[in-house]
Amino acid sequence: MFEDIVTQQQLDSITRLLQRTERIVVIGHQNPDGDAVGAVLGFMRWASLINDEAEVQGVLPDAYPDFLQWLPCANTIMRYDKKSAEVSALMENAGVLVCLDFNDYNRVGALEPILREYKGEIIHIDHHLNPTVKADIVVSNPQASSTSEMVLKMVIQNGDFDKMNRKFYIPIFTGMMTDTGNFSYSNASPDTYYLVSELLRKRVNREVIARNVYDNFSEWRLRLLGYVMNRKLVNISRLHASYFTLTREEMLRFNFIRGDAEGLVNMPLQIKGQKLSISLREDTTNPNIVWVSTRGAYDFPCDELCKRFYNGGGHSKASGGKIYGTIDDAVRITLDAINYYAELLK
Ligand code: 5GP
Ligand code: MN
Repeated sequence: MFEDIVTQQQLDSITRLLQRTERIVVIGHQNPDGDAVGAVLGFMRWASLINDEAEVQGVLPDAYPDFLQWLPCANTIMRYDKKSAEVSALMENAGVLVCLDFNDYNRVGALEPILREYKGEIIHIDHHLNPTVKADIVVSNPQASSTSEMVLKMVIQNGDFDKMNRKFYIPIFTGMMTDTGNFSYSNASPDTYYLVSELLRKRVNREVIARNVYDNFSEWRLRLLGYVMNRKLVNISRLHASYFTLTREEMLRFNFIRGDAEGLVNMPLQIKGQKLSISLREDTTNPNIVWVSTRGAYDFPCDELCKRFYNGGGHSKASGGKIYGTIDDAVRITLDAINYYAELLK
């Protein structure tokens, strides 16, 4: 069928933990993507099945992109940036905290101190390298396409797959789809396609989901895409590398909403032989934070680049981070970074 990611003993400890608590809080990372939101929603369903008397609450540090709003129950997830006091109280009083789709404390933004000081039990499930969150149960599987895929495998292994409903199947499919670039990246494994076929048997409508995620933008986003690729892309063709910046002023001009920058960083990799694409986006409120996204091809190590230059990390082909500085600082650092890897990029 597929390769298990947990032993039966681990799975039993997880279900036992979930069964004996009254409050379960499921959290994902800041700037949540389809996998973070999908895994949180999927796990929430599973936790409710395992313990139907528990109060199960999803929590995120900040807003998810607009194109995920249609996900069933997405509006039940609580945001720390909107309801800090309520979320703090929830987390402090939780019997179990479930951490999904992040490997390090710094990925949860303002939730970091609450997570660090939390005294109860923690279950940590993630597909990034080197998990450092202190947890009672750690399920780490960097080979997995997505955290959503990991949750799905655990649900199947526990014999619960047929007991779930669309509130599970749809977010899990969405998480797997978004982290694999619509099932096109190398992280989509034979297991991924097997699991997708199982989800399709549950009548998950992949056409509708793909349209909801990929074809659900405003006209402004399409014009922004054209503007960025035409006017902002700096391509260093000798090094098969490019970067672009996106400022607050530009985001205002193009009526930017959260999620509108999604996927832009992938586009320069469409250039023949391109090895590296970098996106530098000013924070919408703090002029001294620039969000960085990187994508690589031909084995360029994006995670290493992001660790070294951008206070971040991620996967080898898709990583991110941030710069504490202005957009001009970000460009300088980026030129240094590209030069640093000149030999590899040539
Ligand atoms: P994106 O470019 O889509 O924001 O992120 C791509 C991948 O990079 C994500 O799946 C995540 O694993 C990783 N990533 C993004 N931002 C950060 C960051 O600040 N720190 C770390 N460690 N990883 C990040
Ligand atoms: Mn993920």
